[in-house]
Amino acid sequence: MSITDAINQYKEILGSEVKLVAVSKTKPESAIMEAYQAGQRDFGENKIQEMTAKAESLPSDIRWHMIGNVQTNKIKYMASYVHLVHGVDREKVLKELNKQGQINGRVISCLLQVHIAEEDTKFGFDYAECIELLGRLDQYKNVTVAGLMGMATNTNNQEQITKEFVGLKNFFDSHAVAHQWNTLSMGMSGDYELAIAAGSTDVRIGSAIFGARNYTI
Ligand SMILES: *Cc1c(COP(=O)(O)O)cnc(C)c1O
Repeated sequence: MSITDAINQYKEILGSEVKLVAVSKTKPESAIMEAYQAGQRDFGENKIQEMTAKAESLPSDIRWHMIGNVQTNKIKYMASYVHLVHGVDREKVLKELNKQGQINGRVISCLLQVHIAEEDTKFGFDYAECIELLGRLDQYKNVTVAGLMGMATNTNNQEQITKEFVGLKNFFDSHAVAHQWNTLSMGMSGDYELAIAAGSTDVRIGSAIFGARNYTI
């Protein structure tokens, strides 16, 4: 399937309720432009320098989402333009986003990444750490936490994936009003349907749109 067809197909499946973040990491600018011509504006990258190089040469109305693990010493490169940082997984990232937001005279939107998977290779806060951090957020005036992000276990066990997504959704619901959250980022190419069924607002889909990634490049 072409990139254009894939974008059109996801637009139809997701409707207006769920936002598609097209994950273009490792993909060339020509692939992003094909999706852009099909009307896609939200793109996700997982390396700050790669995203910044793309942002500099691609149309300025693209909304860039940092979905990967954030290296604090590189936040300065994206602070002026990043639309949403999905993967805030430690307070140090929040601190540096706040500092760079201040320098750039803006408030940077982000999501707290919650560890919901069984594997301990996935990053994020646990629920207790999250609650503790929520109590300290007012000191970060140049950051706004718009919601949560989570990645389910990489497994074929649909029940387990659903259990993890629903758990995050329940946690989201119990804090969303108090913190004015509107974004729950869950779901990738392989599990987005389960994520949407559980209440995701943003799905991050890469390989199903752009094809498999070649990490040897
Ligand atoms: C790469 C990546 C995705 C997209 O994965 P696909 O399986 O290609 O859809 C989604 N979320 C995060 C955090 C990623 O790093």
